[in-house]
Amino acid sequence: MRFPNYFADAEKGFKDSKYVLFGVPYDETGSFRRGTKKAPHEIRQASWNFEPYDLLTGVDLRDVRLHDYGDLEIGAGDDPSRMKKEVKGFVHRILDNKKVPIAIGGEHTITVPIVGAFAEAEEDFVVVALDAHLDFKDVYENNPESHACVIRRLSEILGVENIAILGVRSGTREEFKEGEKSGLLYVNSFEMKQNGVKWAVKRVLQRFSGRKIYLTLDVDVIDPAYAPGVSTPEPFGISQFDVLECIKAFASHAVGMDIVEVCPPYDKGETSLLAAKIIRFAIGELWKHNP
Ligand code: MN
Ligand code: MN
Repeated sequence: MRFPNYFADAEKGFKDSKYVLFGVPYDETGSFRRGTKKAPHEIRQASWNFEPYDLLTGVDLRDVRLHDYGDLEIGAGDDPSRMKKEVKGFVHRILDNKKVPIAIGGEHTITVPIVGAFAEAEEDFVVVALDAHLDFKDVYENNPESHACVIRRLSEILGVENIAILGVRSGTREEFKEGEKSGLLYVNSFEMKQNGVKWAVKRVLQRFSGRKIYLTLDVDVIDPAYAPGVSTPEPFGISQFDVLECIKAFASHAVGMDIVEVCPPYDKGETSLLAAKIIRFAIGELWKHNP
């Protein structure tokens, strides 16, 4: 079965929209397994499974001013400069028009130019990441643009003190050491299990009280039992319910978000389905605060 190639209920044109979805099918530095470039398409297809009305948010997505721009033209090959230029330029266009970007990756590297555009637009904001990995390596496999270096690159853009990561459970000893030394706030998945997700988000909100938040959701933060189709699965993750709690907690401050690292070749569609549902929930939740 084939459905239209846009996100279900994203029926508005760019001009009439408040929320702009776009895909970035970039998949070049994946260290364990490839296929994230298929995610925007598969997530869009999966979105047609759902009713427009969302029980949890009480929002009918047909009421949301939502546009799906489609995928950006990022070219092929492992040189990320074209991707970075396209993404940054498009996010500038969204921000110039006072709209909210919602990006679908692709690998986590796509977050760097998005945050770069926010920084250039001189927004005072912080980044909250949900990720199994610390992503704080300076270089990985000789590549500073690797998806394993995303948080490090972001820290160079907006300062390590303006970033928090929830759900972490993987990184090298050096990464954790350097992260701690430089003041990176992270909460690991074991602490979250022990103390609860509300405790974890409270730590983040206390640190960033009242500031705007860009949310980057690396889907591998979710346990592979629920989200097996990711590039670098890591057991002992948080649950899909925890992700909803996080989105709910940060939504009133959110200025944009992305959802990355879904890798459709490695499951039977479960992870794309989950990602599509999370996006629908997130849009509803954001829209309630910022229609
Ligand atoms: Mn990541
Ligand atoms: Mn990750």
